[in-house]
Amino acid sequence: MQRVDIVTIFPEALAYLDHSILKRARDRGVLQVVVWDLRDFTTDRHRQVDDTPYGGGAGMVMKPEPFFAAVEAIRAAAPYTTPRIILTSPQGERFTHAVAQKLAAQGHLIILCGHYEGIDERVRRGLATDEISIGDYVLTGGELPAMVIVDAVARFISGVVGDATSVEADSFADGLLDHPHYTRPPEFRAMKVPDVLLSGNHEAVRRWRHAQRLRRTLARRPDLLTADTLGEEDRRVLDEVEPEREGPGSI
Ligand code: SAM
Repeated sequence: MQRVDIVTIFPEALAYLDHSILKRARDRGVLQVVVWDLRDFTTDRHRQVDDTPYGGGAGMVMKPEPFFAAVEAIRAAAPYTTPRIILTSPQGERFTHAVAQKLAAQGHLIILCGHYEGIDERVRRGLATDEISIGDYVLTGGELPAMVIVDAVARFISGVVGDATSVEADSFADGLLDHPHYTRPPEFRAMKVPDVLLSGNHEAVRRWRHAQRLRRTLARRPDLLTADTLGEEDRRVLDEVEPEREGPGSI
């Protein structure tokens, strides 16, 4: 079982974790998520979590003491684990499929959510074991990154996603994007489901899906097609398939 503790000034903002597959995983006890209110670890009357920056300038900086106190309380509550302590930050290591998979192999994660100009540097220097960014853009707070991390990591925990083979076939799992998916009806607004998917021929479906995965990856993410990801059959198929053109393009 994986335990995740999240430290935030907006515990209610993490409500997504109370729904859908994550809720079921928590109810079944395969995933434990505990949300901590950073203000509970302040010592002043106003429960102040931020202060003005040394050196002047715009914005407020989150104070280090409540984060250290919160992590100490979490470690006291889970004394037998060696947690990874993740600082959410646009300056961190980019969060990817591979990083999610590595984090899923850890028994315990603590995720720290910043706000304003960010968190006092001493939290990064003296507390965090990892600094993770979910992308090259700046959000107003660390709650969305925390939920993204928990959601992506949870999918790798045994028993969270009902059918584990669906995780193995998803985009990035073996270096390729996923193939297109269709369900009923067989024709909708003049768009037909490809005949092969209605054929009942499992081998033909497998080959079609694999060719589609290669085709999509070639069109959208050629950077993923390294020598390691391509087998003999892949190279043959790649020589035959045209890059994908239909559908939406870039912004
Ligand atoms: N001044 C910081 C900078 O430019 O690097 C940005 C601080 S941001 C406004 C406030 C908080 O949001 C951060 O402390 C972090 O917790 C979170 N955050 C914002 N963007 C993020 C991203 N791309 N990945 C992870 N966390 C992010």
